Amino acid sequence: MPLLDPTNWQPRPLSGGGHTVTEPATGDSLGAVTLATAEDVATAARAASAAQPEWAGLPHFARAAVLRRAGDLFAAHADELRDWIVRESGSIPGKADFELHVAAQECYEAAALASRPVGQILPSEAPRLSYTRRVPVGVVGVIAPFNAPLILSIRSVAPALALGNGVVLKPDPRTAVCGGLALAAVLAEAGLPDGLLQVLPGGPEAGQALVADPHVPVISFTGSTAAGRAVGEAAGRHLKRAHLELGGNSALIVLEDADIDAVVSTAAWGSFFHQGQICMTTGRHLVHASLYEEYVERLAAKADSLAVGDPYREQVHLGPIIDRAQLDKIQRLVESSTAHGAKLAAGGSHERLFYRPTVIAGVDDTTPAYTEEVFGPVAPVRPFSTPEEAAALASAGPYGLSLGIVTRDTARGLDLAERIPTGIAHINDQTVNDEAVAPFGGIAASGTGARFGGEANLDAFTDVRWTTVRGD
Ligand code: NAD
Repeated sequence: MPLLDPTNWQPRPLSGGGHTVTEPATGDSLGAVTLATAEDVATAARAASAAQPEWAGLPHFARAAVLRRAGDLFAAHADELRDWIVRESGSIPGKADFELHVAAQECYEAAALASRPVGQILPSEAPRLSYTRRVPVGVVGVIAPFNAPLILSIRSVAPALALGNGVVLKPDPRTAVCGGLALAAVLAEAGLPDGLLQVLPGGPEAGQALVADPHVPVISFTGSTAAGRAVGEAAGRHLKRAHLELGGNSALIVLEDADIDAVVSTAAWGSFFHQGQICMTTGRHLVHASLYEEYVERLAAKADSLAVGDPYREQVHLGPIIDRAQLDKIQRLVESSTAHGAKLAAGGSHERLFYRPTVIAGVDDTTPAYTEEVFGPVAPVRPFSTPEEAAALASAGPYGLSLGIVTRDTARGLDLAERIPTGIAHINDQTVNDEAVAPFGGIAASGTGARFGGEANLDAFTDVRWTTVRGD
């Protein structure tokens, strides 16, 4: 029996009208979903809130068991789910398998959180027992983007549930299946009680309704900096906690002692994995002047060697861009960059939604594809002469998500990383990395400094209550 039945995959009808689930590689319809209105959000939040106390009252191991089963089910349904991720989001099968692997790990990690100690006994001036205890927040509102739809939904949904909360999840309508309906189906099969997880595909209005809803005290948002700012402002007005994971323009610094053969292939992956539609994508290659010419040449040759096409029907390295609006934005940034004097070393062209991996040389502070987040397969390369200059270039700009430094001298790499403000730093690797146990997150325009993953999820999805009991 397949997990997902397009004729019957939304348990409750929503009232926001139909939305066609489209395969970006072909433009074909894969099914239809109905979208949520503000009223649907209110109904769903009430239902999740009504289901939550009984769930929170279960023994921790009962909640953990549901999450562990869900982790196993991502593997059991891997063939079907891989196809959905490939077709709905334009991922190559390897990226879909990575999503399934991380989704299972997120569930297992969340299950482990359910049995962590929940409080502390405090010293007190009075003759009393004074202690803290973590309690669920109630209902968590999760707003997720299209690019890694399964991971970026489950990384909030799983720990929020494990810690005793209900969840209202609003996936991007473009990936409503992989970012919402699929994980709800997995969790239902794993034994999650009815009503606790509500999936509401919808756009910004549904997202804003979620932020404003009185039953939803915590928002976990992943998406662009512009939308995150709107969510953060609204959350502030409603006096809610908002965890914001936002855009990036991460730098990869290649020092003069780097092994150029190894670095070019890892750097190409950093810029072109999933068509560059990853928040941690390597958006700026900063290369020591002694290696710059050869680096540009080799990266361009690597880009030219990569196959771009329909990842469901062909063996390719890159699939399609998610939609026309995103492709137009990439094209605009590349064209305005060459108009500002930058040089195309590879790519710069497209056919339908298939954008060729692109390398741009001769960039400076006026090159839009270098200074802005492209969210496409574009690798701008810029030379530097000293580590101080590399640190200044990498630190420039509004974002602070990820950083890569490649050198044979690890101590030097670590020392350089210390001088650059960033949420994440990798020595001898490119910028795209994720593990369920690691505290993932950015600073400055990349996020509020909140973290996803491991222990950080305790702070994200619980409140701390102080209690005293007088003994006299
Ligand atoms: P987006 O901000 O347009 O959309 C993300 C989600 O927010 C969607 O569900 C969308 O419907 C919703 N949304 C949009 N405007 C809203 C509003 N005003 N109020 C409430 N909800 C709203 O993002 P996108 O373009 O689809 O995704 C790409 C962006 O996400 C990139 O900037 C990327 O760097 C970022 N991203 C960040 C991370 C991270 O962990 N830091 C991970 C993945 C993607």
